[in-house]
Amino acid sequence: MADLNSNVRGLGGVGQQRAKALEKLGIRTLRDLISHFPRRYEDRTKTLPIAQLKDGQSACVEALVASEPMLSRSTQGRQLLKLSAVDETGTLSITFFGQTYLKSVLRPGKSFVFFGKASILGGRRSMTNPLFDPSEGERVVTGRIVQFYHLTQGITSKVLTGLVRQALDGLALQLPDALPPEVTERHKLCQADFAYENIHFPADYISLALAQRRLIFEELFVLAAALTQMKHSRVKKSGTLIHNATPEDFYAALPFEPTGAQKRAVKEALADMASGGAMNRLLQGDVGSGKTLVAAAAVRSVARAGYQAAFMAPTEILANQHFATLSELLTPLGIVVVKLTGSMTAKQKAEAKRALAEGLAALAVGTHALISQGVEFDALALVITDEQHRFGVAQRAALSAKGAGVHTLVMSATPIPRTLALMIYGDLDVSILDELPPGRQKVDTFVVGEAVRARLNGFIKKQVAEGRQVFVVCPAIEENEENPQDIKTAVAHAGQLKRVLPELKIESLHGKMKAAEKDAVMLAFAEGKLDVLVSTTVVEVGVDVPNASLMVVENAERFGLSQLHQLRGRVGRGEHKSYCILLTDRSEYPDAYERLKVLEKTNDGFKISEEDLRLRGPGDFFGSRQHGLPELRIADLLTDVGLLKEAQEAAIKLLESDPSLERPENAALKREIGRVFENGVS
Ligand code: ADP
Ligand code: MG
Repeated sequence: MADLNSNVRGLGGVGQQRAKALEKLGIRTLRDLISHFPRRYEDRTKTLPIAQLKDGQSACVEALVASEPMLSRSTQGRQLLKLSAVDETGTLSITFFGQTYLKSVLRPGKSFVFFGKASILGGRRSMTNPLFDPSEGERVVTGRIVQFYHLTQGITSKVLTGLVRQALDGLALQLPDALPPEVTERHKLCQADFAYENIHFPADYISLALAQRRLIFEELFVLAAALTQMKHSRVKKSGTLIHNATPEDFYAALPFEPTGAQKRAVKEALADMASGGAMNRLLQGDVGSGKTLVAAAAVRSVARAGYQAAFMAPTEILANQHFATLSELLTPLGIVVVKLTGSMTAKQKAEAKRALAEGLAALAVGTHALISQGVEFDALALVITDEQHRFGVAQRAALSAKGAGVHTLVMSATPIPRTLALMIYGDLDVSILDELPPGRQKVDTFVVGEAVRARLNGFIKKQVAEGRQVFVVCPAIEENEENPQDIKTAVAHAGQLKRVLPELKIESLHGKMKAAEKDAVMLAFAEGKLDVLVSTTVVEVGVDVPNASLMVVENAERFGLSQLHQLRGRVGRGEHKSYCILLTDRSEYPDAYERLKVLEKTNDGFKISEEDLRLRGPGDFFGSRQHGLPELRIADLLTDVGLLKEAQEAAIKLLESDPSLERPENAALKREIGRVFENGVS
């Protein structure tokens, strides 16, 4: 007896070839097959008498073939099959292009249901290439709501529909059902068998809506339950009490007025640190939203209370920049800031370490060097890390371990909607900077093809002649079998540019270089000693080169929108008018081209990440390995917000009464969580 995990090879009509094609759609088991949900539906339920067909209307008619189908040729020489069909109200002329074999099917006197778009010309009603089923027998393509699937070569809609039918019939009683009965009932959800039947073969639109609601709810419920479990497993730690000093005088000393969002985030962080518990907060905001200021305000409160803070950046150059910015903000307030990075001399390091160990310095800004053994703090109470995805949890923990009751603030530059952030960063509280400081200039963005290459090189030259600098980003490092020829590689592309623009100072930068080499090149660029930096995405992280005015991205189709938005954020940071040029081959990647167009239209990081999320799904978006988030099959985290909230509440409630899902009625949910989050939830 087949079950959900049975291979599709067990189905009638699936041989090696078809199994392979199905695998391209991600379908290997019967579970995969029945979870391959239609991507859209067409309503073919309406049946009309011929006389009532309106011009341009799609509908079914039931009619008798009234004449021998006639073969002929169109003016362009294509083969045609023409016939007329009648019902009690009128005559319909039907034309098929190509399909001349239908001559032997559509025999005079036989009755069929035709579905197509009617047109009326001079009182004559006609349809071209209608779909049809015999009047007697099952309605396959007419008279019902017809579903459309994502298909692939070798798998037609008809084949897939047939296989799903087979699978559903063979599985009648054991469909996937992760919902505890009580939840199904309380949220008025339909049963699993009804849901799977109607998502594929909707009896009507109400049944379809019920099926969708159930399956979306279930998917979100499993996700929410898993993430809630994760959150519960985090032990509430106590944190150093930092009394809630008002930040007003800090604000007063700034050269600008903080945005409302900045004030809100500061307030949230200060409240965390005054709560007695340990702060565990994610601060996320678009490039340029002013995250550093929020960090500075938190540091200042900690320093005031007589404690220390550490600020860790992923690269030396970023550490240098943050050191400069934070010193500027904090030194005037009497706060001593020291730097600790790998490239400092032994003597400099020793001095910084002493200042920290003795409590002379209240803030250390640095790289991984901060984690190293010899670094001790007198009273570390706050750890801030910049650019979340670059540090593992373990590294953050290693730094926090240098103090007791240490608060954590993690800064990320990928803005996502709040409901989503709360869901995804299950283990962190979230503050969002959803407001940019006033007066930001827009980076003009253009999606272009290879045809403009010569003009682009000219533009690079012109920018440099005006004293500006240029970033060029390529998707891959070196040429090998995995890299098709047309993928620009940083090293090769830098070589090419040097040949075309011999008078410019051009260097390449990529992840395979040693850290010291990378920093040296980056520093040379930051100091204006290089004109063009050709790199992989290592520049993605927030390096500040205010003199850079042009960002060129090669093979832009290879990047996610949010990533491109980050890259674009590397320019437009100074007073110079800035540009972002995204190169892609429109004819080869038409979908990507459309996607990239979003960046021409908007500079709003939240909108862009929403779009990205919609297109790529959350697993991909956040890097599934990092977050362990499953791909969603039917739910849309952005449009299904209402159901998301409902599912989230239900999951929280359930886990309150059965935190480890031990009760028998929750066993299916527990199994499903284990299955969906392959690596388990910990
Ligand atoms: P990000 O969130 O990308 O890290 P930064 O903290 O680097 O942003 O801030 C970007 C720039 O905006 C800095 O030059 C900073 O001084 C400036 N800035 C921050 N907040 C404000 C504000 N409220 N008004 C004006 N400029 C601000
Ligand atoms: Mg920053």
